[in-house]
Amino acid sequence: MTSSFIRHVVVVGGGSAGWLTAGLIAAEHGAAQPDGLRVTLIESPEVAAIGVGEGTWPSMRDTLRRIGVRESDFFRECDAAFKQGSLFARWVTGQDQDRYFHPFSLPQGFGDANLAARWQESYGNVPFAELASYQPHLCLQGRAPKQAATPEFAAVANYGYHLDAGKFGQFLKKHCLERLGVHYVPDHVLGIESHENGDIAALRTQAHGLLEGDLFIDCTGMRSLLLGQHYGVPFLGQKHLLFNDTALAVQVPYAREDRPIASQTTSTAQRAGWIWDIGLPSRRGVGHVYSSAHTSDEEAERALRAYVLHSGGPQDCPAPRKIGFEPGYRERFWHRNCVAVGLSSGFIEPLEASALALVELSAAMIADEMPVTRAQMDVTARRFNDTFRYRWERVIAFLKLHYVLSRREDSDYWLENRAPASIPDSLHELLALWRYRPPIRGDFPRIEEVFPTASWQYILYGMGWRSAPGSTARTDGDMADGYFREAADLARRMLPALPSNRELIDHIRTRGLPRI
Ligand SMILES: Cc1cc2nc3c(=O)[nH]c(=O)nc-3n(C[C@H](O)[C@H](O)[C@H](O)COP(=O)(O)OP(=O)(O)OC[C@H]3O[C@@H](n4cnc5c(N)ncnc54)[C@H](O)[C@@H]3O)c2cc1C
Repeated sequence: MTSSFIRHVVVVGGGSAGWLTAGLIAAEHGAAQPDGLRVTLIESPEVAAIGVGEGTWPSMRDTLRRIGVRESDFFRECDAAFKQGSLFARWVTGQDQDRYFHPFSLPQGFGDANLAARWQESYGNVPFAELASYQPHLCLQGRAPKQAATPEFAAVANYGYHLDAGKFGQFLKKHCLERLGVHYVPDHVLGIESHENGDIAALRTQAHGLLEGDLFIDCTGMRSLLLGQHYGVPFLGQKHLLFNDTALAVQVPYAREDRPIASQTTSTAQRAGWIWDIGLPSRRGVGHVYSSAHTSDEEAERALRAYVLHSGGPQDCPAPRKIGFEPGYRERFWHRNCVAVGLSSGFIEPLEASALALVELSAAMIADEMPVTRAQMDVTARRFNDTFRYRWERVIAFLKLHYVLSRREDSDYWLENRAPASIPDSLHELLALWRYRPPIRGDFPRIEEVFPTASWQYILYGMGWRSAPGSTARTDGDMADGYFREAADLARRMLPALPSNRELIDHIRTRGLPRI
């Protein structure tokens, strides 16, 4: 069996992870052609997809382009909007005016000059991102990241999306079935039949009998039916590092249909967590993520309702939906002929929207490195496990960076978040390096890091970090000044030339964007 060819990939689960993975594999391996790889997706009619996950990274543009969807259709059918980054409010001191941006565009001249050193030396009272990048200024004015004449997926300013998770799943499903040749089995998986060597031979289903395959992709959400339940691959809990384990989510109507749509996700820190605020064309998605060890559900709901009211929402918003989760990830992701993608491989709080980015990276690596034979699969599995173990560790260190530099003292949550034992060793090490110099590309040596070096700088300096004096490295002051002027100049020229987020989205929904 080990020399047998991989001809049939079975994806279990029809949430965002299942459809994105099935779509990418089908598109890259000719599933719609008679000689292509056969791709089947089985989804239980009894178990709903999680239905949250509304913020993406710019990588989603590439993923959608690769699977061959039209961006205009995506905007129309997924209630999608542009996301140009995140705005963090009250994370540093907890005061009203405490805010900083993490935009998706790199600082002007990033990598050419030591921007951080010059900023600290001469402009320390201006927020780093607002000096080094034009993009926070576009966000502050609610501008779109492109014009009506800019082709699909092309950008003037780098962007990802906000979207309706339920509609996104339906949109991907339709595209996978109608265009990409994915076979669909609506059925509940009851059990697993194994080969003698322990590989999965087939899924036992409620209505369709046995469903055989060569490679099984576990996209069953937090159940982790194949990797976790069947194979018992251990779950590595991370609550000692990142405390949040519960979310309360609500959909908030706009006061009027023509209200501006925010160009960024706003994350507002609370006493025991933070609240996300995501603007879609038809509504906002708002949710409170918190640590159940540091607050009660009632208190968390009160904070959420106060936020909704304070941000222009109605007094009587519906009861929020509660979602519990165990922060962590699996010790391995690819085991024998089974690989987990999405929540079945792990989940850490939704700060910085890393979950869908990891789904895209997983789906892309499986599609790019699809083993031809079973014997080759063990090598691919080792490479996959090594890559994703590294990525999960990086995601955790990056998310933790948002907490460790806070100066908030209003609750045990914030104090305990800075306790040395709650900080991963890799982050301790990076902070030691950054005591005298900024994060540089060499600190993140792998290709396709989940978060680029610029993101680490935006958070580090946004949270108020200052390097200590003593470095003898060249500071490139004049060059940095030139880049800061360039960023300001770009903002000045872009602001009147770009439509508002809502104007452009309305245009896309009625007229569409030019095709590439
Ligand atoms: C509160 C919260 C906020 C989030 N926000 C973001 C965000 O802003 N950005 C981001 O990138 N991510 C976010 N995420 C993560 C994001 O929601 C998920 O990564 C994404 O939705 C993928 O989920 P999934 O497809 O892995 O699982 P699910 O959506 O849970 O899908 C599981 C699928 O498995 C199927 N299934 C289960 N059991 C069986 C069975 N026995 N037989 C057959 N099928 C079965 C179900 O029918 C379903 O189709 C958030 C998560 C949470 C909890």
